[in-house]
Amino acid sequence: MPVPVFTHPSCERHDPGAGHPEAPSRLRAVRERLVGEPAAALREAPAALEADLLAVHQQRYLEQVQGLVGAGGGALDADTIVNGHSWEAALHAAGAALAATDHALSGQGNAFAAGRPPGHHALAGAAMGFCLLANAVIAARHALARGVDRVLIVDWDVHHGNGTQALVETDPAIRFISMHQWPWWPGTGTADERGVGNVFNLPRPPGLPPARYVGDLWGAVETATTGWTPGLVLVSAGFDSMRGDPLGGFTLEPEHFADLTLRLRERFEPAPLVGLLEGGYIPARLAEGVAAHVRALA
Ligand SMILES: [Zn+2]
Repeated sequence: MPVPVFTHPSCERHDPGAGHPEAPSRLRAVRERLVGEPAAALREAPAALEADLLAVHQQRYLEQVQGLVGAGGGALDADTIVNGHSWEAALHAAGAALAATDHALSGQGNAFAAGRPPGHHALAGAAMGFCLLANAVIAARHALARGVDRVLIVDWDVHHGNGTQALVETDPAIRFISMHQWPWWPGTGTADERGVGNVFNLPRPPGLPPARYVGDLWGAVETATTGWTPGLVLVSAGFDSMRGDPLGGFTLEPEHFADLTLRLRERFEPAPLVGLLEGGYIPARLAEGVAAHVRALA
């Protein structure tokens, strides 16, 4: 069975402006690549419901973003810029994460959410680092509300998932593993940030052989989940950890994401896996990384 890939046309209309790395061309490249991928079945994502957003974000913040988008757009911070389509895009990016999670929890298999803007830097009351809504945490809370006991979030984006960490670090029902370049933006993610024992950070230098990154991340997965069995595995799938990315110095190739995906499936079966698109700033490379991940989900 092909893996459903939830996305929405509005996610290609959110545009932070000329020269910004988090460009619509990223998702266009992913979509065009997956159209020709037998392992993937593109599906239209619904908009997220407000109740799912309010389980994670402050109402005041949601109104602030909608207000700026309604006025035609502007800057939420130095890096995070919205246009008139960005709220619809954010709702559908979160909706894609929710639809992929619902698919997985209904016993139909794994799924991927190909939305943008990405989510792992977004905070409860603030946008950050190209991110508006914390899609992974929105999906995790939704899964817990549906009766899942434990959710594992694995973040292999080259940047620390500081927003995800901040939103889950007091919740023992969610465990968060992030491997990221260090020292590097956003400056958080040291190994001694442990939350309530549920946060597992792997700060790593750039330029290591890919087998080191894969081995270290896998070691953290084993440490984090010995005696702790998740009912759902979410992958904050950022592909800026690939060799050559302009925003990072890791060295991963598509085969390494496939390897990690297969290992996660095997270790946590019968728990389903849901991948969520985060970073990755060379569109053609991003598309190959996503395709390898999705093929391994099938
Ligand atoms: Zn990133």
